[in-house]
Amino acid sequence: MAHLVQGLNMPRAPARVAVIGAGYGGLAAAVELATRGIPVTVFEASRTLGGRARVVERNGVTLDNGQHILIGAYRELLRLMAQVGAAPHNHLQRLPLTLLHPGRLRLQAPRLPAPLHLLTALITARGLRWEERRGAMRFMRRLRRDGFRLPADTTVADLLDRAAQPDRLCRYLWEPLCLSALNTPPQQASAQVFVNVLRDSLAAERAASDLLLPRTDLSQLFPEPAVQYLTRHGGEVLRTTPIHAIRRRHGGFDLDGDPGRRSFAAVILAVAPYHAPALLGSLPEALFLAQAIAALAHEPILTCYLHYREPVRLPAPMVGGRFAHWLFDRGRLGGPTGLIAGVISAGGAHEAMGREQITSRMHEDVCALAGALAPPQWSQVITEKRATFRCLPSLARPGPATPIPGLYLCGDYVALDYPATLESAVRAGVECARLAAGCPSRPSVLRPAV
Ligand SMILES: Cc1cc2nc3c(=O)[nH]c(=O)nc-3n(C[C@H](O)[C@H](O)[C@H](O)COP(=O)(O)OP(=O)(O)OC[C@H]3O[C@@H](n4cnc5c(N)ncnc54)[C@H](O)[C@@H]3O)c2cc1C
Repeated sequence: MAHLVQGLNMPRAPARVAVIGAGYGGLAAAVELATRGIPVTVFEASRTLGGRARVVERNGVTLDNGQHILIGAYRELLRLMAQVGAAPHNHLQRLPLTLLHPGRLRLQAPRLPAPLHLLTALITARGLRWEERRGAMRFMRRLRRDGFRLPADTTVADLLDRAAQPDRLCRYLWEPLCLSALNTPPQQASAQVFVNVLRDSLAAERAASDLLLPRTDLSQLFPEPAVQYLTRHGGEVLRTTPIHAIRRRHGGFDLDGDPGRRSFAAVILAVAPYHAPALLGSLPEALFLAQAIAALAHEPILTCYLHYREPVRLPAPMVGGRFAHWLFDRGRLGGPTGLIAGVISAGGAHEAMGREQITSRMHEDVCALAGALAPPQWSQVITEKRATFRCLPSLARPGPATPIPGLYLCGDYVALDYPATLESAVRAGVECARLAAGCPSRPSVLRPAV
């Protein structure tokens, strides 16, 4: 706890840590610090907590800024949810891995121990030919044999091509998985990061590949219970309190925008990658990090909500669409009956379409699955233009440690072996808290994801 101990006199109370940003990453860091008995103040620019995974109010209905999917492999997020009192089994609907594209593919993993669940899922899948099933098994066997390490990173499309994966298998299985997990088209996405995701989901124990679909809004899923936990454990969360600059002073940090004008022993910068460079800009030693983060490109995610007057039931809570990549029956997930969310990951032709055209194409998708329906009572298109960083091969990403002692970077872009997800944000948060609490640092500050 070297740099967290104030003064030389007893008793040595740990000094306060500042977390800038109350997204999933920042709140995970704060919860981890509070659990270790370290006082923490979280500064959040917005009134709503959760950042890119937050609740929004539209048409008098509580919606998420974007439909999110979690998987059983999100062990840190699930652990922290339980710790702050948001029991995952109350907030998430757990389904065995199911990929349902009506008329094209139906793959469902039975509740059998790994790897039998995956083998059985492939053998019993409808819509796959035998050579495609064998191709998928061969691909997974080869990745396992190589320890899920590629000799050099490449694109997912290239990896699948070299592994001679049949076209339909790519189109219906690997490419949708790549888009959903990396939010980057296979022609551009990092094969190593994709392989890391396969290693920790499909190739891990059965529960790791389970789909966990939120039954409550994204702010209630973790951020709001986290704040209650922090309040009970000596922490504080200041909403509508943007920080404008970080200044080093007397071995600690002052923050422009802190109404209390306090000095902090350490700062965890937990803002999105497109906000981090401005805050790092006031620190000359961190300029190269600011430049590396500013160089990250981003991909959008579009969510279109359609609310029908009549009851609508999709064949499953999550179904593949023709226009939408995935459609979610929010009514079957604890939401209002007749509320459907259609999701399109990454950029594409839809970006040139207007809202009306997008809504009408989504409506056609719903009708194809649920039968003829009158147009929705209301609809809402939410496009998050910088939903995640574009997960390119051999991308240099910063780690949580910086050259400035006591300053840490947190968020979904921080070098871990995952793409931008809730889990990578939370893992980065836990790692930053560990470092701020005086645990040993990792050597490099800028490295390609492994
Ligand atoms: C539409 C959409 C769909 C997604 N789907 C999935 C999914 O299905 N599964 C999945 O795992 N992930 C998904 N993601 C990704 C996931 O939401 C993000 O990876 C994660 O929320 C990032 O969290 P974070 O804490 O790193 O950053 P953020 O959520 O961006 O949090 C940063 C916080 O910092 C605050 N802030 C910024 N500047 C300041 C300042 N100067 N002072 C104080 N506060 C500041 C912001 O207001 C924000 O609250 C999706 C993202 C989007 C947008």
